[in-house]
Amino acid sequence: MEWEAVIGLEIHAELETNSKMFCRCPVVDVTVADPNTAVCVVCTGQPGVLPVINRRAVEFAIMVGLALNCEIADFNKFDRKNYFYPDLPKGYQISQYDYPIAKNGYLMIDLPDGSTKRIRIRRAHLEEDTAKNTHLSDGTSLVDFNRSGIPLLEIVTEPDIHSAEEAEAFGRKLRAILQYLGVNSGDMSKGVLRMEPNISVRPMGSDELRTRTEVKNLNSIRNMFRASEEEIKRQIKVWEAGGAVEQETRGWDEVRQTTVLQRSKESAHDYRYFPEPDLPVLHIAREWVEEIRARMPELPDAKRERYLGGYGLGAYDAGVLVADRAIGDYFEAAVKAGGDPKTVANWITGQIFRLMNQSGLEREQINEIPITPETLVALIGLIDNNTINNNTAKRVLDILYAEGGDPAAIVKAHGLAQETDTSILQQAIDDVLQANPSEIERWKNGEEKVAKFLMGQVMRALGGKADAQLIQQLLQESLTNFG
Ligand SMILES: [Zn+2]
Repeated sequence: MEWEAVIGLEIHAELETNSKMFCRCPVVDVTVADPNTAVCVVCTGQPGVLPVINRRAVEFAIMVGLALNCEIADFNKFDRKNYFYPDLPKGYQISQYDYPIAKNGYLMIDLPDGSTKRIRIRRAHLEEDTAKNTHLSDGTSLVDFNRSGIPLLEIVTEPDIHSAEEAEAFGRKLRAILQYLGVNSGDMSKGVLRMEPNISVRPMGSDELRTRTEVKNLNSIRNMFRASEEEIKRQIKVWEAGGAVEQETRGWDEVRQTTVLQRSKESAHDYRYFPEPDLPVLHIAREWVEEIRARMPELPDAKRERYLGGYGLGAYDAGVLVADRAIGDYFEAAVKAGGDPKTVANWITGQIFRLMNQSGLEREQINEIPITPETLVALIGLIDNNTINNNTAKRVLDILYAEGGDPAAIVKAHGLAQETDTSILQQAIDDVLQANPSEIERWKNGEEKVAKFLMGQVMRALGGKADAQLIQQLLQESLTNFG
């Protein structure tokens, strides 16, 4: 039987404002800050304190809502979501239950085959992040309240996603938008952005909804893709063996490359939501929404159109360059430094991505490589002025990637400049022809491909340091005149 996956995504994005959602504490990088140093009476849940809404967090939420083509609510209300857990000092989380700030939107995603697809956004609501628990091997648990109260936007899609590839495409596009808006770094390994797929499968062509599982603790988009792929396979196996998928929360085991049971859900939680009495109803004026809309930065789709039109790039290159804001910024800096857009795009998506993959860097980490956009343009300049050829440039790039430095200085230090003295080039050609009389006979009998072999011999004799086009031209002349 053919099966189809049905996936909805729940995304938690911290809004990287200066201060927390309901107090003045700074929003810090919780992976590096000393524990419990960015805390106060409000975000540690002391009795008698009052929360105050962070205007900037509301503004960030409106920006994301607009970027996701949502309706921005005029009437906003905050609610208490009650549950008991050590990471929640008040015993409740302030969230938005029945009146989310944004709803009924969509995001167009770009699929590997070049097509696009519309994924509906059900809602996005504001809430506060919880504290962070660390469980030690001796059985003790530690709580860090630095994260408690950081503004959080929860985004929920409709179950319009039907494969791991589509989930990945959605994740990449959404992350790019958050980065472009400057509201979230997109660093899933630090937990500031969390994506949780709800997955079920059904016979292809049916419209039933079967029991779904939720996969948590995914620290990269690549892992979300792999986890979705494996979870889909697992569920199909269960159904095909005559079993039934249980409603449960699963985690991703990176080592075994499989999803594992975290906890089963016996029943839905009763959070006893009720309106937060300490906060007033929040009305969002239409003028404010329009003012925010007017100063929204350029988003990935608009940037891609600009690259297609203005720079004459192909659709694939343009898509790859805008998928991460850091890549687009790097590309534009190189073009500004005088690089030809098409050539620069080729070097980034080819050689630089190759080196970054080898050293395990994610695309958004392009700023961490020792090759600046200006250095890349300088290297391309050495090809353009015939100092080195393309193959030598790749060798220079490898050295730059490992050690940094200046391309011209590296070419000089390693003796990589092309031989331009035509008498030396001619001598190398003559030597090769002298040594290969039978090949010349074959060439004279019409075997064109022999020229390629001889060309390779000449380039090898010159250590690869010659202008291939010039050699080809000289070789043709020499062959024609030989004997
Ligand atoms: Zn605080």
